[in-house]
Amino acid sequence: MTITTQWYPPGLPTSLTYPDAPVGSILAAAAARYGDRIAFLHGEDHLTFADTWRAACRFANALREHGIGRGSTVALHLPNCLAYPVAYYGTLLSGATFSPANPLLPPHDLAAQLADCEAAAVVTFGPVAGALAQADVPLVLVDRPTTDDQTDFAAFHRDAPETPPDAGLDVHTDLAHLAYTGGTTGRSKGVRLPHRNVVVNTLQYACWGTGSVPVLDDAGHPTLDQTGPADEWPVRLGTGIGINLTPWFHAMGTIGALNVAVATGGTVVLHDLFDPPAYVADAERLRVTSMSGAPALFAALLACPQFHTADLSSVRTVTSGAAPLAREMINALQRRLPDAVIAEGYGLTEVTMGATLSPSWRSGTRKVGSVGVPIFDTEVKVVPPEGGEEPLPPDTPGEVCIRGPQVMTGYHNRPEETAATLVDGWLHTGDIGTIDDDGYLSIVDRKKDMLIYKGYNVYPRELEELLVALPEVAAAAVVGRRTAEVGELPVAFVVRAQGHDVTAEELLERVNGQVVPYKRVRELRFVEQIPMSAAGKVLKRELREQLT
Ligand code: AMP
Repeated sequence: MTITTQWYPPGLPTSLTYPDAPVGSILAAAAARYGDRIAFLHGEDHLTFADTWRAACRFANALREHGIGRGSTVALHLPNCLAYPVAYYGTLLSGATFSPANPLLPPHDLAAQLADCEAAAVVTFGPVAGALAQADVPLVLVDRPTTDDQTDFAAFHRDAPETPPDAGLDVHTDLAHLAYTGGTTGRSKGVRLPHRNVVVNTLQYACWGTGSVPVLDDAGHPTLDQTGPADEWPVRLGTGIGINLTPWFHAMGTIGALNVAVATGGTVVLHDLFDPPAYVADAERLRVTSMSGAPALFAALLACPQFHTADLSSVRTVTSGAAPLAREMINALQRRLPDAVIAEGYGLTEVTMGATLSPSWRSGTRKVGSVGVPIFDTEVKVVPPEGGEEPLPPDTPGEVCIRGPQVMTGYHNRPEETAATLVDGWLHTGDIGTIDDDGYLSIVDRKKDMLIYKGYNVYPRELEELLVALPEVAAAAVVGRRTAEVGELPVAFVVRAQGHDVTAEELLERVNGQVVPYKRVRELRFVEQIPMSAAGKVLKRELREQLT
């Protein structure tokens, strides 16, 4: 079955018209429209939309004075901070391509990425700048230079002109993002995303969330036809307020938290560390309107006593993505925030960020356990996991494939991997999912996480759902132990909920009583925590290594 959007925000067309504009023009439009409202708030410091625009223009011009522009790549090796949007939009306004790098990447992997994308410059910051020791990049910009070959980030662009340069970009072919991901094969690859993709995916989600259509402002920059009464917006803050912990080096951060917030005039509140009581206190104080992040964020909030007592009546939407959100958690969040819409989205770096979202404006259409329906102009199908392009019937698990204007143009310098992943415009995601009769997609598991026990397919996610539904379990992850005799045996890693001292035997009995014999968990280990990536995905590879 192939699905396209069936549920549209009321009053919106079924297909959107996307302007042929570069990414930087999203910020240009926001600066003109939301001017001195606060775009980014970090402790006592902030940047308004206009501040961000002016600083980004200065940074763009400074890069161009150094010969960096169209055809060059600038890597951002930074955690979320106020310098990030300046360097991000500045890079794009200069005409150069942005390549995000996780600040915690080991030096060897960082050097490999910077070499693969041929970075002409890297923006980094003090505590992690040392990781660049093995890299060979001509220009290293850092907040506090400690060596002669480093340049001060602030001084670099302080006196540059504030007129936006004319980068002369072709939005269909010039890359905005060259984002590195393990993708479906595990080897880190650069995903090629032209400006067009980034603008499209930003507008797809911004329009879905606000129910507004994209329009051009007087200067020809893309914005949303948001007629929201400006005087109802909290003073000096934006049209919506969210605390952001999703790293901007990940697609969900760059698109979902950065570009969508800018396009819709929302205020992003930055927290350096995730401290659940501090998060809740700020959410109450600033009257946040949206909460978004990976499931680990919501699990920690649900376990935080203050989350259950604070006044969070301002929260209108709760959006989860990046990893599966357990049904039990969705129900608990809905009980705690009965007036908020709990939405789930699904995507991957190869589709810029996302392909689906719950139809959140329709009460009663949220299906617990599903990642929603395809957003505008996006098609989704599931095909046999062993190969073939013919869509499978409803409710039959298969590999999820996505086609739409946000799908990457290919992997950087890897034609074979591109050809294996993109077939007739359909991106093969490596995820296993089902589509129901109403056109809702559910993610069953990742193809590579699926276990084969005596020839039967076992999806760890089903076992993880059963485990976390037990009150004694705070978190769980299941991986396979390879054996020569029977294939892979499901092994569960479990974090006990506070105050419970249940035994492994008791948990095994309760979970295994609910599944057919070939799916049984064969071994259960208690751990202090489940290893997670910065983007909130369980690092199953690390768990598998513990079994060898
Ligand atoms: P990345 O490219 O780092 O964004 O990782 C993409 C992968 O994250 C997808 O291929 C899925 O395996 C997983 N993923 C993203 N969103 C969800 C979701 N809502 N539910 C389950 N898995 C998800």
